[in-house]
Amino acid sequence: VIESKKEVVRDDVFWGYNRHRILDRLRLDGKVAYVTGGGQGIGRAFAHALGEAGAKVAVVDLVLAKAEAVVCELSLKAGEAAVEGSDGRWCSVPRTEDGAVFHGQKMVQCSKLRPGAAADSAHPPVSRLPPPGKPRTGIKSIALAADVSKPEDVQRVVDAIVALWGTVHIACNNAGINMNSASEDTSLEEWDKTFNVNLRGLFLCCQAAGRIMLNQGYGKIINTASMASLIVPHPQKQLAYNASKAGVVKLTQTLGTEWIDRGVKVNCISPGIVDTPLIRSKDLQPLVRRWLADIPAGRLARATDLQAAVVYLASEASDYMTGHNLVIEGGQSLCRKTKG
Ligand code: NAD
Repeated sequence: VIESKKEVVRDDVFWGYNRHRILDRLRLDGKVAYVTGGGQGIGRAFAHALGEAGAKVAVVDLVLAKAEAVVCELSLKAGEAAVEGSDGRWCSVPRTEDGAVFHGQKMVQCSKLRPGAAADSAHPPVSRLPPPGKPRTGIKSIALAADVSKPEDVQRVVDAIVALWGTVHIACNNAGINMNSASEDTSLEEWDKTFNVNLRGLFLCCQAAGRIMLNQGYGKIINTASMASLIVPHPQKQLAYNASKAGVVKLTQTLGTEWIDRGVKVNCISPGIVDTPLIRSKDLQPLVRRWLADIPAGRLARATDLQAAVVYLASEASDYMTGHNLVIEGGQSLCRKTKG
């Protein structure tokens, strides 16, 4: 028997019973999650990973159409989904047995769904959010539009999730932006915009979701930081970005240690350079090419390289872990930069 101040755990619990096998402890069935910036790139991969592990997932993005497209993808795997119409009403996303209508290009048609427009009789439109206390359980994923830097948007997202599913267990605060300019030319506007999304937005999300989690004595918060929080990728012009991501790590450490004794674990993931739309802009390509030379793994990360990490941090398998910065960068932060 292992005893600590807060818990008494029989060590035979860990040996021999099926329900405590490690893969079962990674399952997220019955859990409610959201992912900000879930409409593309890393957030989209996170939403898929959490959904595949069994969680209900709210995909939150500045651009509703992107979130809707991801919800269409998820609905093919997990079941009924819903999107929030521009008029604030809800519409279920019908799931076809073979999923054909949501494949490829046609997936974007999902963004055209509006109440009454495309739902069939088996999947009637959800005209309003269900009243509090009566969560609708059939829906496995929803799309929500929000700007994470706005407190009212963040609160609306958390309220909508609670109204639909009763609570939030897993908060994936992933939305982030990057701007590139030499430090001496970084405008206050650029600085503020970067910090508003990357740090203020992340704080607002941690706080809004954290309040629910503290109340229920359980929660997993996973923030997306960056390798740039640890090293300065060379040659770089990302002063505001690097500083904001270092802030994400410190925020994570602080909340992680402050909230762990109330059941809320806060960790972050620091990806290296991931091939997503964020780094595909034309002016970044010379930089990306030089960064590539510094990656021992010999390639950029794919968003899918990060999926297992988010499931692990969202699951009970990582219950003893908090305030941690999980760096996934193909070894880049361990190596000296290449000159030239
Ligand atoms: P991305 O630009 O491909 O996707 C970001 C998503 O966030 C977009 O769908 C965008 O619409 C959404 N978004 C932007 N601002 C928002 C806001 N204010 N509110 C809500 N949603 C908003 O980016 P990505 O590469 O997938 O990056 C995701 C996270 O990972 C970011 O925090 C980024 O800093 C971090 N990151 C990325 C890399 C990389 O190389 N791609 C490396 C390290 C860390």
